[in-house]
Amino acid sequence: MDSGLTRRKFLAAASAAGAGFTLAGRAAGAEEDKPALLGGKPVRAQGFPSWPMVTPPDEKAVMEVVRSGRWYHGRSVNRFEEEYAKINGAKHCVATSSGTGALYTSLGAFGVGPGDEVIVPPYTFMATITVVLLHYAMPVFVDSDRETFQMDPGKLDAAITDRTAAIIPVHIGGYAADMDSILAIAKKRNVPVIEDACQAHFGQWRGRSLGSWGTTGCFSFQVTKNLPSGEGGAILTNDEPTANKCFAFHNCCRKRSGAASGFTYEGGQNTNLRMTEFQGALLLSQMNGLEERANTRHENAKYLTSMLREIPGILPARLYEGCTRSAYHLYMFRYQPEKFANLRRADFLRALNAEGIPCSAGYAPLNKAGFIQDALNSRPYVRVYGKAAIEQWADRNRCPENDTLCEEAAWFTQNMLLGPRTDMDQIAAAVRKIHKFAGDLARSA
Ligand SMILES: *Cc1c(COP(=O)(O)O)cnc(C)c1O
Repeated sequence: MDSGLTRRKFLAAASAAGAGFTLAGRAAGAEEDKPALLGGKPVRAQGFPSWPMVTPPDEKAVMEVVRSGRWYHGRSVNRFEEEYAKINGAKHCVATSSGTGALYTSLGAFGVGPGDEVIVPPYTFMATITVVLLHYAMPVFVDSDRETFQMDPGKLDAAITDRTAAIIPVHIGGYAADMDSILAIAKKRNVPVIEDACQAHFGQWRGRSLGSWGTTGCFSFQVTKNLPSGEGGAILTNDEPTANKCFAFHNCCRKRSGAASGFTYEGGQNTNLRMTEFQGALLLSQMNGLEERANTRHENAKYLTSMLREIPGILPARLYEGCTRSAYHLYMFRYQPEKFANLRRADFLRALNAEGIPCSAGYAPLNKAGFIQDALNSRPYVRVYGKAAIEQWADRNRCPENDTLCEEAAWFTQNMLLGPRTDMDQIAAAVRKIHKFAGDLARSA
């Protein structure tokens, strides 16, 4: 009786396993091939590596500051500044409360103000422009190079006037802007360069850190960035007078060397954009493994590109020859619907997300942003620049290449590049699947 029961149980289990096997076999044969949006099985069920990465040393580092009661700008921030300058091969680092604060401080250190022009790209996060407006200077847009997503260096020289007070190239996505061309033009025209490296931690141009090439280089440690502390920022520079000016601007006119020996003051306009000790301690801890993660992203991205560029209508952003390591804060590519049976970009993204591969459309054209028009039409702007100049501004700042780029672009985020190579295989498989079924998806959209 015992053995009979066992036998029945065994048979039931075997037949359930058999049924399961049959179902799985059918899924592999037909449904797995269909896009998830059309009832197929998603390519990927599990998430990608989560971000930020929290480790026990992070907790210890922050708690040590809490317990010590040394909550004021000091030991941790100073150590972080030294370390961050060192690992990036720069002479000086000034830590700030955010990336926006780092950019704002750089412009402040150069004495940028009303009547000045600052050259910016249209394909970036709004803060690159916000800081120009905060100094009541005029943003002047240089169109994007559609293939690289970066500021088109061929259009830079023509945008420089005798009012140009700074050029802010952005290493967008962590890919390098064309630093050889930009620095040569800036030098010829005698204009300082502020690298917006807020997405470019540990990216390299000709083997040296992005953010260490310009007069200053600005970083963000906002939580989504490749080196995070919730909020935070830093300025790198190789020029001591510039370092002193940045320090004074961001720290109520205090002298850089004066912190230990009592306060002395220098400079005019200033503010408080200091980094806290909590941020400094957390960053020192988060810097562990920074280079390893940068290499993982770079290797995975290279492999992903080798697969994606074989798919018609997928154009991965091109790296300039001088970019020896992209930081890959984003993995950027262009999507051409005409090669996907006219499946619109929004529907392509929806299909890809349904496969378990998060992907977004990226930035809107910043030169057309409402906040710029509002600022330019404010009383002080009209008074400084005159109504005519402000009315002509939009026409003079058209960026047709960037308009097209913004319609075609798509991004993956940096954390998706931190897993094993097989994750890249799945991303490519999902895009291939959508390409194969693009007609069906377009008809059902
Ligand atoms: C994040 C970012 C900033 C601003 O940094 P915050 O720390 O968020 O103020 C500026 N520029 C670019 C390109 C960024 O990605």
